[in-house]
Parts: sequence; structure tokens; C-alpha cells
Amino acid sequence: MTAQRRAKASVKPAGARAAAPDLEALARAAQARAYAPYSKFHVGCALVTRDGAVFTGANVENASYGLCICAERNALMAMALAGHRDLAELVVATDIAPPASPCGMCRQTMLEFSPDPAATRITAIGPGAARVSWTVAELIPAGFTGKQLAPAKRRR
Ligand SMILES: [Zn+2]
Repeated sequence: MTAQRRAKASVKPAGARAAAPDLEALARAAQARAYAPYSKFHVGCALVTRDGAVFTGANVENASYGLCICAERNALMAMALAGHRDLAELVVATDIAPPASPCGMCRQTMLEFSPDPAATRITAIGPGAARVSWTVAELIPAGFTGKQLAPAKRRR
């Protein structure tokens, strides 16, 4: 064992687990950074990967409306850019009740990065105790995946 490995082991003893991130608090903090001057609909998102990496996002609007991007996809893009492909859980925060569910584009993006869509939990939080939770499989049943591209490539 190298000195570097020993030092790492002393910081994180075998069997120790990091505390679960407070995704709801992180999503609320991200929501406060949303850029939504047109809709005034502020959305925040926080997610954790299977190996415990945490990413956040907020919606960012544009005067050219088609350029607007959702909080969920901003967080998922940050995750992907950091090299992670394994969404474990995601929380999205808005100020409406019942809490807003993710849009279709975000659902498709969640599916892309969910190795097990039936086990990937998505929770929408609104004001107070308002909560709605789904799995990715529930949000986008029969979704399009890369598995469907493979037969198309073989035909050429
Ligand atoms: Zn969306």
C-alpha cells in the first residue's frame, strides 16, 4: 500500500459512507439562481449519481424563447460533462402545488443517463410539504434508448 493510499484510507475508513446529500435543500438553493425574467417560473434541480457525485442546475431563459433550458437538463449536462453517466436520484423544485413534473425533453434526458430507469427516483417539490415522486420508468414508459439504434446501424 502506498503512502497516498494509506492517507486516503485514513480519511475514509472501510465501510464508511458519506452522508446522503440534502437534494431538496440543494434544489432550493439552485432555484434561487434561476434566470427566468420572462416566465418568472423559477426552477431548481439537484441530483446525485450512483457513486455520490452531486450536481445542480436551474432554468435559464432567453429572449429567443427556443433557447431556454430547464433546470433538470442543466444539472444532467453538468453531470455528463464531469464524466458521470449514472443518475441515481434527482429532485426538482418549483413554487407551485402540486409540484411541476419534468417536461418531455428532461424525461428523455433522464432516461439516457438512468442505467436502471425503474430504480431511478425523481421527486418534484413544491411549497411546504408538497411532494410528488416517480421513477424514470414511470415518467417515460416505452422511451427511446440507444438500444434501438443498434439494429438500425446493422442494416447499413
Ligand atoms: Zn424540462
